[in-house]
Amino acid sequence: MNDPATAPRAGPARTAASAGTLIDISPLVSARTAVFPGDTAFERRTLMHVDDGHHISLSAISTTVHLGAHADAPIHYGKGGRTLEEQPLDLYVGPCRVVRVAGARGRAVTAADLAGKVPFGTERVVIATGSFPDPERWNDDFASIDPDLVGWLATRGVRLVAVDTPSVDQATSKDLPAHAAFLAHDVSIIEGVRLEGVAEGEYELIALPLHLEGADASPVRAVLRPR
Ligand SMILES: [Zn+2]
Repeated sequence: MNDPATAPRAGPARTAASAGTLIDISPLVSARTAVFPGDTAFERRTLMHVDDGHHISLSAISTTVHLGAHADAPIHYGKGGRTLEEQPLDLYVGPCRVVRVAGARGRAVTAADLAGKVPFGTERVVIATGSFPDPERWNDDFASIDPDLVGWLATRGVRLVAVDTPSVDQATSKDLPAHAAFLAHDVSIIEGVRLEGVAEGEYELIALPLHLEGADASPVRAVLRPR
């Protein structure tokens, strides 16, 4: 089989960045990873280790499923919503558009922020707000998503939105209006990606969740491939 990353191509030479290089947009996961206040922090217990004379190293983890970069399943925010294994897998692999929104900390991202940046036919949008800068230090004032933006994106064909914040709603929100809009328009959510230094533009997103039965979310290893 031809490996698309190495197969010879016609046309202009590809740059190093476009020659199959992956941009990792997942924060490193550890016990230091900030989780929603009150949620279950990540813990990995070492049961045995080769350094201690065991024949293998072996560990077990305990964690919220809303950890670092993660996909929310609709059941997380709505009665009767799909669980994770019921989510269409192709949501999580395919062309996407990275857009940056300046000055978003402490406010909602609106359709006006994305004007001219989301052409019709865009299926996946990755929104960089820079409003949750340190995945190991919780801040409450990260940007949220205006519920009306979700409908605006849906009319353009968007099926998945990824954000660089722990939630599409405000940290203190209990009625979760943005999540409700995502449910109403059947647009899926990835939260907690890291986008420092990622330029706006078109990429391929690869962010597959684990195949967890009945789950309301799963960590993902999210990467972008320049197109
Ligand atoms: Zn979540």
